[in-house]
Amino acid sequence: MTNPADRYAHWAQAGGGDVPIDRIDAEAILRDPDIDIMALAAAAGQVRRQYFGNTVSIHVLDNVRNGACPEDCGYCGQSKVSDAPIKAYRTKPVADILREAEQAKAGGAFRFCMALSGRGPSDADIDELCEAVQQIKAMGLRTCLSFGLLNETKAKRLAEAGLDRLNHNLNTSRRHYPKICTTHTYDDRLATISAARSAGLGVCSGVIVGMDETQADLLDVAYQLRDIRAESIPVNFLLPIEGNPVTDAVCDGMPLTPAFCLRALCMFRLVNPTAELRMAAGREVHLRSLQPLALWPTNSLFMEGYLLTEGDTAATTLQMIRDAGFVPRVDEGELPDAVWQASAPSIELTIKADAAKS
Ligand code: SF4
Repeated sequence: MTNPADRYAHWAQAGGGDVPIDRIDAEAILRDPDIDIMALAAAAGQVRRQYFGNTVSIHVLDNVRNGACPEDCGYCGQSKVSDAPIKAYRTKPVADILREAEQAKAGGAFRFCMALSGRGPSDADIDELCEAVQQIKAMGLRTCLSFGLLNETKAKRLAEAGLDRLNHNLNTSRRHYPKICTTHTYDDRLATISAARSAGLGVCSGVIVGMDETQADLLDVAYQLRDIRAESIPVNFLLPIEGNPVTDAVCDGMPLTPAFCLRALCMFRLVNPTAELRMAAGREVHLRSLQPLALWPTNSLFMEGYLLTEGDTAATTLQMIRDAGFVPRVDEGELPDAVWQASAPSIELTIKADAAKS
């Protein structure tokens, strides 16, 4: 390609045909200083628009069970090796989960995502979650569950209850995985994803950027997610939690910057053109003022915080979506006016006292 501008058009065209860009281009997106970030975001945005229009799927995460986990995931404040000062609690009663789902729906959520700490769910957990899923589906919300390793029998029970998706993140590359976790393997994770797929569940699987991996690791996991055809890909940026073994948010030895995070999102979009791509945990801290621009490669986000940390509120998030010219995805019709109105900030202009005097 002689004209540098041609490559952006080439990437957009490939994505439009659901063809992943090749690895040399994906690598350039992450590291080439000659990349024009606005042209890159426009190319990724063209692909995103083709599959998702101008809609944004809003997800709300409910931490249904917190802490006391026997696993040793180094980035997680709930693991047995973390000294993070978290408040552990057992699985919430179904009534509490339903009340929180109602609140999420009223705030504009499209999908309610329930996460439980632990290596995997017991039969009693499955009973309770099947009941919760059935009732949340009846509210008109899509559902997603995240709770460690799972076999096909349990996955089938959840699918029969109406669960839409299982979340099970690959998190990083196969090569880097033993550096962030030793109590289970990359293959264990792939087996859980395979069980979910066999049971007929949708697969949500993503990544955490900034766990001291290399850029090559990010490329590996992006293509691995393409290989498993993850229909939903949350891209998290490490939120350093004091007391965890993995606390420095770096990639290739460099601290994450907003521009690098945006490049990473564009790379994930162009390697996985049709996936629901989500700017997930850490978007506020690491993308900072580039968050609205990240709506070009991504078509989904979390609001109201994450498992252990606060995030932007519904009001702030909805305002950003509207300001950027996008609309929240809903199953039918449009987001109720009441939700928009509740999110609309009242901006009062006050003249500075010294300016008023002059
Ligand atoms: S299995 Fe889940 S809850 Fe347990 S340490 Fe790993 S990420 Fe945290």
